[in-house]
Amino acid sequence: MKQLQPLSLLIPAALFTLAATVAASQGHEALKPFLKEDSPVLVLEHVRIIDGTGAAPSEDRRIEIEGGKITRIESARLKTAYPLNAKVLDLTGKTVIPGLVGMHEHLFYTAPPIGTGHLPLWGEMADSAPRLYLAGGVTTARTAGSMEPYTDLNLKNMIDDGQIPGPKLRITGPYLGGYLGRAPQMHTLTSPDDAARTVDYWASEGVTSFKAYMDITPEELKAAIDHAHAKGLKITGHLCAVGFREAAALGIDNLEHGIVVDTEFFPGKQPGLCPLGAEADVAKNLDIASAPVQEMIRDLVSHHVAVTSTLAVFEITVPNRPPMSAVGSRVSLALTPEAWTRYLSVRSMIADRNDPIDAQLLKKEMQFERDFVKAGGLLLAGCDPTSFGGVVPGYGDQRNLELLVEAGFTPVEAIHIATQNGAIFLGEEAAIGSIAAGKSADLVVIAGNPADKIGDIELVDTVFKDGLGYDPGKLTESVKGLVGLR
Ligand SMILES: [Zn+2]
Repeated sequence: MKQLQPLSLLIPAALFTLAATVAASQGHEALKPFLKEDSPVLVLEHVRIIDGTGAAPSEDRRIEIEGGKITRIESARLKTAYPLNAKVLDLTGKTVIPGLVGMHEHLFYTAPPIGTGHLPLWGEMADSAPRLYLAGGVTTARTAGSMEPYTDLNLKNMIDDGQIPGPKLRITGPYLGGYLGRAPQMHTLTSPDDAARTVDYWASEGVTSFKAYMDITPEELKAAIDHAHAKGLKITGHLCAVGFREAAALGIDNLEHGIVVDTEFFPGKQPGLCPLGAEADVAKNLDIASAPVQEMIRDLVSHHVAVTSTLAVFEITVPNRPPMSAVGSRVSLALTPEAWTRYLSVRSMIADRNDPIDAQLLKKEMQFERDFVKAGGLLLAGCDPTSFGGVVPGYGDQRNLELLVEAGFTPVEAIHIATQNGAIFLGEEAAIGSIAAGKSADLVVIAGNPADKIGDIELVDTVFKDGLGYDPGKLTESVKGLVGLR
């Protein structure tokens, strides 16, 4: 067997030197290439504010920022004297919303298959994902399942230290589930003890939440929930073997994706087993307005279980969605040529197959999310950049807002779901997720009015995180063609 090279041979010494220089740099020196505003005192003048609380937009406002925080908000018409040494930005015609709080995010991308007999693999997008999240207006991102938890944790620390640009990351541990060896990057749980041990270990390494995955058994899920809760951490799930009501009774905090993955209504569902064909059954036979589904919704609400909307990743399996005009102009620029080719070929396969099931599923999921909110449920949003590709960090989060509006929410409600609701779930609503004096200056300036036309959410002019104004163009340009590679 060939001996492994020592680490020093694998990583060029120059990289260590570079890292040391970056770490030693003062303030936000390393971030400068991506910034357009870094004055310590800023005034955003004549802006329309959509504050994230669900309140109607307010016109011609002034936001003052100092030391990374919002210090004052008032009518621009008062013409109060500006703070000393303030840089004033006239943003007439533009809208400011809170930085998005993305709740189903990932820092990896599905590697396109090459050749035959490939294993499913996901490459870590350590360079592109954080920059694209930020460029898309996502200033806080909770990952929902990690392929490389150490990379994710280190990225979080580098971002927090100001060494690299990116959102405030909230890192989950590795997927907790059974995989039968299909995906070699994942750990296969072997017992409830193993689930408990895995949660304890990764909590001690610094992850702040967990994600249970499809084949996890009820006993393993229970152990994972108890051990996460014992440390004050939350746990979400993309479930299959365990139904939603069963998971709520076990104490889960959050469910990903919605009704599309709830198997509890599938005829012949065996306890603790993930059935085949449940999604098609939801599409064909499940009535969202029916008493059992509505009862399930009420049960989730009474157990304070949040649901994360991931419409953007469901949409890509529907023929000819999203519109080619939307992806051709920016997704094609973000992906590697191989990833783009792969995306196009699967997209045309889906269009040719023209199976009505996926469109029906998307429609039912939209109805479920509306009913869940109507019943008082806490709906969160995230883009889930997985599946066969094409859902890009940041862009996918914006698309999710457009789809929430298609689902029947007003643009202001959709923004509330994608900002303040996420902050509430994270227990960080005092600092992020809405626009008010005293909160972090995590703000997205939009060249348009998303309250009138949600598509304007894509017209990001500047993204402020802790008062530093990032240029979305510089961020995206710096990782052009890298999604799928690094
Ligand atoms: Zn996911």
